[in-house]
Amino acid sequence: METEVDFYELLEVERSADDKTIKSAYRKLAMRFHPDRNPGDADAEARFKAISRAYDCLKDPQKRAAYDRFGHEAYEQAASGGGQGGGQGFSDIGDIFETIFGSAFGGGASGGRPRRGADLRYDMEITLEEAFHGKDTEISIEVSQTCEPCSGSGAEPGTGKRGCDTCGGFGKVRAQQGFFVVERPCPTCHGRGEVIETPCSACRGEGRVDKVQNLDITIPPGVETGTRIRLSGKGEAGPQGAPAGDLYIFMHVRRHEVFERDGTNLFTKVPITFTKAALGGTVSLPGLDGEWITVNIPAGVQSGKQLRKRGDGMPVLQGRGRGDLVVDIQVETPRKLSSKQKELLREFQQSETKAQCPDAMGFFERIKSGWGKR
Ligand SMILES: [Zn+2]
Ligand SMILES: [Zn+2]
Repeated sequence: METEVDFYELLEVERSADDKTIKSAYRKLAMRFHPDRNPGDADAEARFKAISRAYDCLKDPQKRAAYDRFGHEAYEQAASGGGQGGGQGFSDIGDIFETIFGSAFGGGASGGRPRRGADLRYDMEITLEEAFHGKDTEISIEVSQTCEPCSGSGAEPGTGKRGCDTCGGFGKVRAQQGFFVVERPCPTCHGRGEVIETPCSACRGEGRVDKVQNLDITIPPGVETGTRIRLSGKGEAGPQGAPAGDLYIFMHVRRHEVFERDGTNLFTKVPITFTKAALGGTVSLPGLDGEWITVNIPAGVQSGKQLRKRGDGMPVLQGRGRGDLVVDIQVETPRKLSSKQKELLREFQQSETKAQCPDAMGFFERIKSGWGKR
């Protein structure tokens, strides 16, 4: 073993330190002991490997939990399960550790390491107008990307890889487990058979770095809340040159003052005067495209009547045509009348017939006849 020092002590952090503290502690120490800064200094190199190894454990919530639970010694034993000295600075001991302490990982199925970078989610809020027209926009997100200096290989440019000592270049190791000998991918080289000689100083051998990325995004017309736009390969870069994951933009469409939306249909309430309701006419309202939409009001329309304008709703997402606009008519009774108006309306009232207003004028009669039948 290279070290018997507790990982927390190595990184000079409290046992209760959060991920951020651990990360910055590691960065600070890695800078100090990096082989590039200490050429020919074997102690610094050993220290660098040790802190990298400690960080490799503590940055992973599952490994850290297992480390806390089983202690340093058990962890190290598990890590060197190959029996051939294991313990390179950049080894991922997850595979072996998982086999031995399976329960600690909740499941214990030792699947392969993730080959692809993680998918990412980005939430975006837009207006109903923007959902109507579609929109070209740009977003900035911090994503881990393939490291440029080493092209994702993790090796310092100009340096190479060498055969893995742990597995002798076979990519597999045999380990005694009770009475069994099990063969599994080499924990040092992850089955590649080779290891990085000098880790890339830009990415510390990870092959990827966090970078702010500006992305052009085209939002197609017709998106609604819940629509996901997938940007293939724009998620996290994969480890050591593996393919990147995808980025998903989750759309949220803000509530609109005038229009309510249901799929491709738009709904709105339109108040009209009682004279317009009686005489008929038109009303105009501003559409989402900025054009005025004219709605014909048939004479004698009742409050609550829904008038449908076909093709004046939302565009169909990635399709043709548009949904409908549904106008909910609200008849407004004058709240105040001049004496002249009152006179005119009284005169009008004299001439009202039951045929014109069957509901209102026949109402009490229907109730009376109902009583009579009892
Ligand atoms: Zn190996
Ligand atoms: Zn690099």
